[in-house]
Amino acid sequence: MTKQTDSSVTVVGLGLMGATLAGAFLKAGHPTTVWNRTAAKADELVGQGAVLAPTVADAVRASSLTIICLTDYQAVYELLDDADLTGTMLLNLTSGSSGQAREAARWAEQRGARYLDGAIMAVPPAIGTADAVILHSGPQADFEAFEPVLEALGTVSYLGADHGLASLYDVAGLTMMWSVLNAWLQGTAMLRTAGVDAATFAPFARTIAAGVADWLPGYAEQIDRGAYPAEVSTLETDVRAMAHMIEEAEALGVNAELPKLIKAMADRSVAAGHGAEQYPVLIEEFGKPR
Ligand code: NAP
Repeated sequence: MTKQTDSSVTVVGLGLMGATLAGAFLKAGHPTTVWNRTAAKADELVGQGAVLAPTVADAVRASSLTIICLTDYQAVYELLDDADLTGTMLLNLTSGSSGQAREAARWAEQRGARYLDGAIMAVPPAIGTADAVILHSGPQADFEAFEPVLEALGTVSYLGADHGLASLYDVAGLTMMWSVLNAWLQGTAMLRTAGVDAATFAPFARTIAAGVADWLPGYAEQIDRGAYPAEVSTLETDVRAMAHMIEEAEALGVNAELPKLIKAMADRSVAAGHGAEQYPVLIEEFGKPR
């Protein structure tokens, strides 16, 4: 039997993610109220013990914490713009940009609500396990007050008072994820021309990725200091190796866009006089619009 607590929670939005969040709260024993535009999506949760609120206004009044999980921020405004939010505590787990999160915080506060923004860095099957990382930003006291309830969803963390931080970390994490995957796919495409299959390359690629991950703290220290002494290799040396990467890709007849992009950025940094410095000096290229 699950443990009952007095920490009530409402979930607004029962799509693939919202319904899973509500299910995790129920499983953890939290009295859970739900609401969805298409009411039938609540049926299974009601069968598990959730209460379906007749209106969205009733839903936000039913619990001390309301989680919102809709398609986008526009849907949040369309749904809640006319609702009385006075005295409510909202946690918006809808994905969006940092600017949208900050704007939503102002919107909620103007309506007398307390507001936290969040980002879910997980797919529905991971929700309720430690693998589900959920990021939060906004007033720390509000996060801490509801942290014990939110722990039903996975590994929850607090990033800071700026409401935009959760979305910014979300995008930074996605940038890491797709960049690493693209680099692996590039290497795999090259090796496949020699009959090496993806499964053979994968463990080698994993070792490279883990080795590079170990450089991050030292490189981060250089970036934060704004000084990039070449302790291991100069950018000029790196650029020569990048030329091989392009020549090889073109000779093999595989896509050379990624190698060319990597070299083009490094070339600009060398042209700007950074050839004798170390690789993280490229932060100056990444920090500019292009
Ligand atoms: P989904 O299955 O498409 O569900 C969308 C939800 O938004 C539904 O409950 C839908 O209601 C509701 N909705 C949309 N427009 C509305 C409006 N104008 N008024 C009222 N309700 C509206 O999407 P999802 O996968 O649950 O994703 C929800 C959020 O979680 C998104 O921001 C997504 O980026 C984020 N997220 C999802 C995943 C994932 O793997 N699924 C992972 C991380 C983050 P109806 O049922 O009535 O259409």
